[in-house]
Amino acid sequence: NENLAVQSQKLSIAGQLAAGIAHEVRNPLTAINGFLQLIKKDQKENHQYLDIIFSEIKRIELVLSELLILAKPQAITFKEKNVIEILHQVVTLLETNAILYNVAIHKQFQDEQIHIRCDENQLKQVFINLIKNAIEAMPHGGNIYISAKTKNGFAELSFRDDGVGMNKMTLKKLGEPFYTTKDKGTGLGLTVCLRILKDHHGSINVESEEGIGTDFQIALPLTESRKGQTRRIRMITNR
Ligand code: ADP
Ligand code: MG
Repeated sequence: NENLAVQSQKLSIAGQLAAGIAHEVRNPLTAINGFLQLIKKDQKENHQYLDIIFSEIKRIELVLSELLILAKPQAITFKEKNVIEILHQVVTLLETNAILYNVAIHKQFQDEQIHIRCDENQLKQVFINLIKNAIEAMPHGGNIYISAKTKNGFAELSFRDDGVGMNKMTLKKLGEPFYTTKDKGTGLGLTVCLRILKDHHGSINVESEEGIGTDFQIALPLTESRKGQTRRIRMITNR
């Protein structure tokens, strides 16, 4: 059981470097990609080499896009949203991918309305990263349990899987930029999650056991309830 709040200190250095590098590398990369596409059209041979080059370019682009999220979001807009609806949307988005890996996603929501102030796209990114990690932790299939409830002014969400789990060393390194145990991993997914949750005044906790599974728990502050707001207005008009 490791609290990830401490890890957020590691974000600032990564964030500063990320913006510069991502922007500088992205433009030439786009040009290279374009011209290679043209070359591929005229070329009968070496297609397999070009395909490797394209897949490597795609990988660089993935790392850059994650670095750009880390480098302080460009236009972050906080709005009151129903986090349950966002969860439904994300599950729909990833459901086909889950089925492909024999993973069943179970939703356990206390309420269909839990309102928080958030940047919807950023928060979606957090949920996507956690669910993707859960799927990747179950190469032979399994279950993901997503739950949501309210407690003490917070929305409490949990993303639990019965996958491979993590050892002590991985748990300790969790959230560190570029830390990955996967061949094709970027090691930026959780770093991105930490950054976004920090911007949302939220917190994240993880419990994991090797061979048993992993549970990521998130807490996000609730917005004031609608009821409270209307009452306040009525009190003013009553005067
Ligand atoms: P990546 O997925 O690219 O490796 P992440 O930052 O998303 O990068 O995750 C970092 C590491 O944390 C993963 O490589 C994996 O070892 C571990 N991890 C994250 N989520 C889980 C999970 N649900 N189950 C087991 N291990 C996990
Ligand atoms: Mg990941």
